[in-house]
Amino acid sequence: MLIVQKFGGSSVADADLMRNVAKRIIKTYDDGKNDVVVVLSAQGDTTDELIAKAEEISPNPSKREMDMLLSTGEQQSVALLAMTILEMGYPAVSLNAHQAGMITTSTYGNSRMRRIDCERLKLELGRKNIVLVTGFQGMNRYDDITTLGRGGSDTTAVSLATVLNADLCEIYTDVDGIYTSDPRIVKDAIKLDEITYDEMLELASLGARVLHNRSVELAKKHRVKMVVRSSIVEDEGTIVKEACNMEKMLISGVAGDDDVARVSIIGVKDTPGKAFDIFSTFAKNQINVDIILQSIGRHGTKDISFTVSEAQFPQVKEIISENLERWDAKDVDYNHDVAKVSVVGAGMVANTGIASRMFEAMYDANINISMISTSEIKISVLIDKGDMKKAMRAIHDKFYLQDL
Ligand code: ASP
Ligand code: MG
Repeated sequence: MLIVQKFGGSSVADADLMRNVAKRIIKTYDDGKNDVVVVLSAQGDTTDELIAKAEEISPNPSKREMDMLLSTGEQQSVALLAMTILEMGYPAVSLNAHQAGMITTSTYGNSRMRRIDCERLKLELGRKNIVLVTGFQGMNRYDDITTLGRGGSDTTAVSLATVLNADLCEIYTDVDGIYTSDPRIVKDAIKLDEITYDEMLELASLGARVLHNRSVELAKKHRVKMVVRSSIVEDEGTIVKEACNMEKMLISGVAGDDDVARVSIIGVKDTPGKAFDIFSTFAKNQINVDIILQSIGRHGTKDISFTVSEAQFPQVKEIISENLERWDAKDVDYNHDVAKVSVVGAGMVANTGIASRMFEAMYDANINISMISTSEIKISVLIDKGDMKKAMRAIHDKFYLQDL
């Protein structure tokens, strides 16, 4: 078998943890029975520390130099882990992005993997080496180092699993799998044995930040079997795959996200083309608009509300002040004290009544809903920020405890 294993920064933070990881890898390699390619993140908080160093020098450092700097974190980890494995008497070699032939788009700081020229990788595997590859980085067409965006090592791992046709892509981290909700908020959250790519994508974009979103998109596209598991405890973890057991629970997760702001454009003229005009302006500026609600027209005007991430809010505000007049709108209103709570589950496609159960849970907890949006496998509501945790617990209880 060919197995790709990725270890996050906390799993390789010091020499003892490195030795622990090395043992896990050697166990998989087991004297050449499996081919093993390992992807590593930078140790512990290295990436944050490097960013802080750059900020000491410049408030707005060159993006090219930033990637040059950040990529050193991963290079340290792979070299140190190679030494650890060699010290244990097993064959290992570390490769950086250039050596591993990982070619990305040209954007610094947020590049995409374009292709991987695997000759060197295959050569090293043929020599029965355990091959350790730097996560998070690539080379662009100018022969410069680029990085894939924070958390990008997961995407490196899935990219390698795809091009090498790996049998399995294991993501080792400091949690032991994917849970039905954030265990820090919902005490009774349960670890899932398996989850579909689509569910995982919804949960990842909803703030369950276990996996880099693009890694899941890529795994779905190429049908890479992924497993999320702990690097510390020997446990099965959670399998991410195309379809799951039919008898599984109706929903796979309850997620909360308080990193959102609600925007309302008020008194928009009630004529065709207004929504198009407004949202195409945001789209052109790469703004991700989420829940959208439009009121019915009254006295010739209507209101259009939507949510955006807090990170994009300043840009949204600017776009609105530049365009409000052109849009024929009277006023604008913002609210930052909001949160989005969502239930996700592939089971929704075949089962009715999930929305009503969710709303009942919120009614029982006396929580007011201000906006609702649904997709095939997700229902999201916008509520007061202060109610987020209470809502997550109430909904989780409704679906998981009352069924048992
Ligand atoms: N070291 C990078 C980061 O901290 C990439 C990764 O960990 O996946 O974002
Ligand atoms: Mg990560």
